[in-house]
Amino acid sequence: MKYSIIKILPLFLGGILFSQNAVDSIQFKNISDEILVNGTAYENLRDLTQNIGHRLSGSAAYEKSTDWAVQKLKEAGADKIWKEEVMVPVWERGKESLQIKEGNGKWRSLKMLSLGNSEGTKGKDVEAEIVFVKNKEDFDKLPDAAIKGKIIFFNYAFNQKFISTGQAYGDAGKYRRSAASWAGKRGAKAVIIRSLSSAFDDVPHTGMMRYDEDDTAKIAAVAIGPKSADELEKTLKNKKVFARLNSNATMKGEKLSHSVIGEITGNKDQSVIVIGGHLDSWDVGEGAQDDGAGIVQSIEVLRTLKKLGIKNNHTIRVVCFANEENGVRGGNQYAENVKKNNEKHIFAIESDGGGFTPRGFGLVMSPEKRQQVQSWRNLFLPYGVHISNWNMPEPTLNRWNLSEFP
Ligand SMILES: [Zn+2]
Repeated sequence: MKYSIIKILPLFLGGILFSQNAVDSIQFKNISDEILVNGTAYENLRDLTQNIGHRLSGSAAYEKSTDWAVQKLKEAGADKIWKEEVMVPVWERGKESLQIKEGNGKWRSLKMLSLGNSEGTKGKDVEAEIVFVKNKEDFDKLPDAAIKGKIIFFNYAFNQKFISTGQAYGDAGKYRRSAASWAGKRGAKAVIIRSLSSAFDDVPHTGMMRYDEDDTAKIAAVAIGPKSADELEKTLKNKKVFARLNSNATMKGEKLSHSVIGEITGNKDQSVIVIGGHLDSWDVGEGAQDDGAGIVQSIEVLRTLKKLGIKNNHTIRVVCFANEENGVRGGNQYAENVKKNNEKHIFAIESDGGGFTPRGFGLVMSPEKRQQVQSWRNLFLPYGVHISNWNMPEPTLNRWNLSEFP
């Protein structure tokens, strides 16, 4: 029997591709086995959250967490570890309270949190009538006289129809970020916003806000839980409600801080693959999901590759970024240094969407690169990990038209 080269070549190439796939598949399984059997991520997370706890950038606890990260990267076997200098804002919350009363009724307390980076009331009581608006459009329609001297309450809810909660977060985020600027420019005394959350509970959430550069009045900005927000909206439909707000939140300048970096040096070239999370957290809670999980996962990647003796062509660098929560200074400084040092980066992945078992990752890259990564899809499937496309809009009826799926 004669074989033509045309017939043999695809078989030959197919054989190479198959064997490469098989090698990769075995390597994936080795990595998975090592993490599932000897993984240190949960213990590291316990250590970070229980022994250091919350770690807002600029705080003493944050600095302690940078020493912790150096130690963990050392234990994981990093070839090189260093702290990267970065100036961070120092924002402190201090004591805070919010009370409301209906008409001439009695004051009662509401659970609240001042928004990160906001200026409070300098410890003084600020009292005013609450004016409710559902959204920015309603706010824009109000005459100045209805805003001046009042406390504006924005009750913009998470859009529960979004499949990705991240998208709902982005949609509602402008209220947390900008409501104080909108209302402050028009003479309001303070703003209250509904917390950014998909839950129907009554937990207030902090998070970053910012004032516009031309804001002369930096009014106080606080968040209340979704349940309190809905109750307040209901009450305001029938009655006048007054608020008494007291917050010591304030920005106290800047200080020198650090991101922490550890790497396994590449065998082939100097190009870098970054794996990262943010080491800082808000000053309430423990910063376990946000973003201790991202930190311990990133360190675990380094530990596993080192333990299995996997020879990496490119440098694998774990970056524990400083100050993601209220400034993103660590990320910006890292990017600036990369440019300055003319370092070639070929891929970067970060985790800041919570922990548990990873379900997938999104890709922000050119279509050609995305195709390359998606060709590895089958390697991830046995682990229940999918590759999604972050640039993809929410599905519409059209998108589900079956003719689009031949
Ligand atoms: Zn985060």
